[in-house]
Amino acid sequence: MEHNLVLYRKYRPQSFSEILGQEHITQTLVNSVFQNSIAHAYLLYGPRGTGKTSIARLFAKAVNCEIDAKKSGEPCNKCQNCLDINSQRVLDVVEIDAASNTGVDNIRDLIDGVKFNPSQLKYKVFIIDEVHMLSKGAFNALLKTLEEPPKHAIFVLATTEIEKVPETILSRVQRFDFKRISIKKIIEKLTHIAKKEKVKIDEDALRVVAQLAEGGMRDAESILTRIFSVSGDKITVEDVENIAGATNFSKVSKFIDLFSDKNIGGIVAYLNTLKEEGSDMQEFLKAVMKYTRNLLMFQIDQHLKNVVASDLTDDQFEYMINQNKKLKSEDLKRLLSEFMEAEEIVKKTSIPMLPIELAVMKVLS
Ligand SMILES: [Zn+2]
Repeated sequence: MEHNLVLYRKYRPQSFSEILGQEHITQTLVNSVFQNSIAHAYLLYGPRGTGKTSIARLFAKAVNCEIDAKKSGEPCNKCQNCLDINSQRVLDVVEIDAASNTGVDNIRDLIDGVKFNPSQLKYKVFIIDEVHMLSKGAFNALLKTLEEPPKHAIFVLATTEIEKVPETILSRVQRFDFKRISIKKIIEKLTHIAKKEKVKIDEDALRVVAQLAEGGMRDAESILTRIFSVSGDKITVEDVENIAGATNFSKVSKFIDLFSDKNIGGIVAYLNTLKEEGSDMQEFLKAVMKYTRNLLMFQIDQHLKNVVASDLTDDQFEYMINQNKKLKSEDLKRLLSEFMEAEEIVKKTSIPMLPIELAVMKVLS
């Protein structure tokens, strides 16, 4: 079976009612479209893959929809405006990824265009993703526009790091906080996708996918895309766990690389990134311990791979053998015993990275 299309694009929600787990937001937006009480600037804040960009696009359609939105607040996906926005053929909906456009010039160009009337739609909608990445100059230019926005302009800003967005901007936007999506809701959507794609996959397997995605629908859908592309039409828990192992391997091997470079600062920064991405530190620590144990075993005897790590691919095994050239077995033993102590504390502390950081510091300094 072919699954060429990336699932998260193929199954992108086409109405607010299809957005999962953010009802507190979609209901407000639907009402504001329906009652025609639309603000000029919104800020969507929350973890990656929870529907921020999807909601921004739906909102752009709903405010410009010529048919249903006036009655229901939902875009109809049938009128010319909806269709043109869906196929990205319209100049009045502008999407910018601030992570790739940090320069003030891009925002200046954009803001110069704000004052002109829309070419086709009722509202020009500017969607700025990862808005916290804008430069200071760019924020100032944006602020000026937000202070006196033209009637036809709507800004939808999205961010994963609200503490990096200036107060002056925050005070001028209507803010929505996105939640991680529950395992149950993710399983529901994945079940729907699997059915449509005519793939048999047990609920246990879908549960593993949902747990791996840690509340991000887009991550869940991309894990599913990968599983569909390497497995047959019937997928088991083992298939998913093999892929899950691959995910964990790259995360953990990067941590060990930093450890073998004695890069404590790098480790602290990396753990923070993982946490922000929604990784469970308890699970991560478990994976690191298993990995470290394997490294130690391979130092004793490489043939132990068949006993302790038969699930590793040849590439992964080779990677670990190379890592071992830079690692002393003494350090690995100390790291493991520190981690065993940290494991108890991780469950109780309010800063779950801290016991891992301390363990690393103890061994390296
Ligand atoms: Zn429409």
